[in-house]
Amino acid sequence: MPPLTSAAAVATAWFALRAVLWISACVLLADLITGLVHWAEDHYGDPSWPILGQLVFAPNLEHHEKPRAFLAGGWWGANWPQIIMAVLIAAGTAAVGWLTWQLALVLTLLANANTVHQWAHMTVKETPRLVGWMQRMRLIQGRIHHGGHHGGRRDTAYCALTPWVNPVVDRIGLWRGIETIIQRTTGVKPRVDACVARRELTALER
Ligand SMILES: [Zn+2]
Ligand SMILES: [Zn+2]
Repeated sequence: MPPLTSAAAVATAWFALRAVLWISACVLLADLITGLVHWAEDHYGDPSWPILGQLVFAPNLEHHEKPRAFLAGGWWGANWPQIIMAVLIAAGTAAVGWLTWQLALVLTLLANANTVHQWAHMTVKETPRLVGWMQRMRLIQGRIHHGGHHGGRRDTAYCALTPWVNPVVDRIGLWRGIETIIQRTTGVKPRVDACVARRELTALER
């Protein structure tokens, strides 16, 4: 291979930098979207609603009650609603010429987000070696970070892909801010998680 000229080297470096920045932006955006969906499920979703109620909200509440139960469902069991949604969006945007590689990447990440979430619920022994390395390198979210959601009042750490977005959105109070706007404009209050409400009631009764 002939040596790169300096102009070609700069162009290659610029291409690589742009690719890294685009990929990072897509990962962080997908992470934020997982947080938005999870937050909405936790505080507004009702299992009695038609279609989405049993499809999305009931499994989410079950996950709070029995956090490791969804490991039994495997990849398809944990991800199928998001996969179908992602395929429909990809097909729709492709039909009108709007499907870019960035959108395809975000949809792929969203379609598989619950697999990263499953990994965060595995024991050290159960975690595949490469996944454990990615968790330790903080490329994806690990069990301690995600445990912050399950162990606390379930009102923080909604994002499920990386350990990078949660600290920022929790610190700026994004979710509480949206809840305040919703309550002021519609009167609808966010629901406190049933497990948390039980836990706090038990503590009060002691
Ligand atoms: Zn939750
Ligand atoms: Zn979880």
